[in-house]
Amino acid sequence: MITDVLVIGSGISGLTYAIKVAEKNPELGIVMISKNNLLESNTRYAQGGIAVVSNFKNDSYEKHISDTQIAGAGKCNETVVRFVVEEGHDRVQELIEWGTHFDTNKNTLHLTKEGGHSEKRIIHNKDRTGLEIQQALIKKIKTFLNITLLENHTLVDLITDHHTGSDFKRCYGAYVISNTQQEIIKISAQITILSTGGAGQLFSHTTNPKNATGDGLGAAYRAKVKIEGLPFVQFHPTALFPKIKDNTFLISEAVRGEGALLITKSGKRFMPDYDSNAELAPRDIVARSIAQEIIKSGDDFVYLDCSTISEEEFQNHFPTIQQSCNSVGINPPKDFIPVIPAAHYFCGGLEVNEHGETGLKGLYAIGECSHTGLHGANRLASNSLLESLVFSHRAALDSLKQLKEILPTDSFYEAIPEWKGEHYISNEKISAIGKLKKELQEVMSTKVGIFKTSKGLLEAEIRLKKIFLETQEIYKQNKLTLGVCELRNMVSVAYLMIKQSQELNANVGVFYNHDYA
Ligand SMILES: Cc1cc2nc3c(=O)[nH]c(=O)nc-3n(C[C@H](O)[C@H](O)[C@H](O)COP(=O)(O)OP(=O)(O)OC[C@H]3O[C@@H](n4cnc5c(N)ncnc54)[C@H](O)[C@@H]3O)c2cc1C
Repeated sequence: MITDVLVIGSGISGLTYAIKVAEKNPELGIVMISKNNLLESNTRYAQGGIAVVSNFKNDSYEKHISDTQIAGAGKCNETVVRFVVEEGHDRVQELIEWGTHFDTNKNTLHLTKEGGHSEKRIIHNKDRTGLEIQQALIKKIKTFLNITLLENHTLVDLITDHHTGSDFKRCYGAYVISNTQQEIIKISAQITILSTGGAGQLFSHTTNPKNATGDGLGAAYRAKVKIEGLPFVQFHPTALFPKIKDNTFLISEAVRGEGALLITKSGKRFMPDYDSNAELAPRDIVARSIAQEIIKSGDDFVYLDCSTISEEEFQNHFPTIQQSCNSVGINPPKDFIPVIPAAHYFCGGLEVNEHGETGLKGLYAIGECSHTGLHGANRLASNSLLESLVFSHRAALDSLKQLKEILPTDSFYEAIPEWKGEHYISNEKISAIGKLKKELQEVMSTKVGIFKTSKGLLEAEIRLKKIFLETQEIYKQNKLTLGVCELRNMVSVAYLMIKQSQELNANVGVFYNHDYA
């Protein structure tokens, strides 16, 4: 398959980018692939909303800039912070024009406040903002005749000079696995967009969906594209403790904002012992405090006591949380909610310039898989959807300019070789993949999670090497499947995270090594 633009991933960033390019250029061919259905993504689970300055009476760009930099612990790129904050307003207006509904109050956007924000500036749709955005964008994207949507198609590898034998130092599209047919197809493209989201699945507990396995990062790593900031993984303090295996769900910070308290299983409130802001301390402090209490007590979780919130208020503000808790037999605010910290957001990713382009010409990275410099060492709550919107817009404009340049000819793209690989995978190997994935998650959670030590990082490196060798063995001996693809990527991202964590020699933002405390 040959196209002008290949977009890999259908979250807020991929969808926004594709809509922008298609709107202005009906003559261009755009192919969008998505690992599962178009909806499944980190975006659809976003609860809180988008941080954007809209009430200029009380709020200002300068305040939002300052809040972002404080959260980022002085590690943010100042230029990026400024343009993301300043351009955010127009980008949100476009989302609204494309059909996204945000809650309003007397004809103005209803604003909430989250940790680290000095003003109320989070626009939202109840506690299901991401779903609302995602559904509106999917509806919009389906109106374009020049966009081909391929669901259940997974990126395997980026096509580079390594495959073509050329020396243009560009990306030429990607090899993609059709999840249902289990066959690998070649999609060559002048411009390739990675919008593959985060990699929360590297850890045993995560708020991210199953498909967040860092595939874009893994493929880019194999294509020798620079990846930065991986040690800065934000752990959300309060995810529902999974009674049923893997069934974690985010319990928004807003619940603590409404007065819910954190208590141990034996009933002791502990946050005032750690921080004067108690339950409303910054996320990294609350996550570390809960982790500390869990280590101290040997319990699996702590409780969130929501009894300070009335039933009506809870139902009104947090319908999605209530529904999810009810589905596993918990009935807040009457029942305590068992919670644990869970891997939530990757501040690091593919190093990009101010237009979202990576160091490999023709390859852009937008959204959570990118490292723009906005978040520094810790993301300010609700800044990620904003970043996705601003960088999708910038990448659209920049890549369109590139399409007008002289690029390799059609015959060059036609000559790109097909993927090589014949063998079929056996059931025995499939169970080995599951075991290796679990082992990787366990290593990452215990040694490279909220608390690290230099010794632990070394142990993780050694254990990961073993997992890597076994993964390579499966990869070489068998036909490529989705499971093998994901495992390879998880191993690469885990390896890079360990190496980059070993290079840090001081605690900053969300990075915490006991040896530097
Ligand atoms: C529970 C939760 C709550 C959150 N709340 C907020 C919030 O309130 N405010 C905020 O700003 N941020 C929030 N975030 C973070 C924010 O949702 C994400 O950072 C953002 O949605 C990322 O968008 P994205 O387009 O980069 O990636 P995603 O939305 O994750 O989309 C990634 C896409 O890539 C596809 N994909 C992945 N791998 C492959 C592959 N190999 N081949 C093909 N396709 C692939 C996936 O299928 C998916 O379509 C939250 C995140 C979570 C998990």
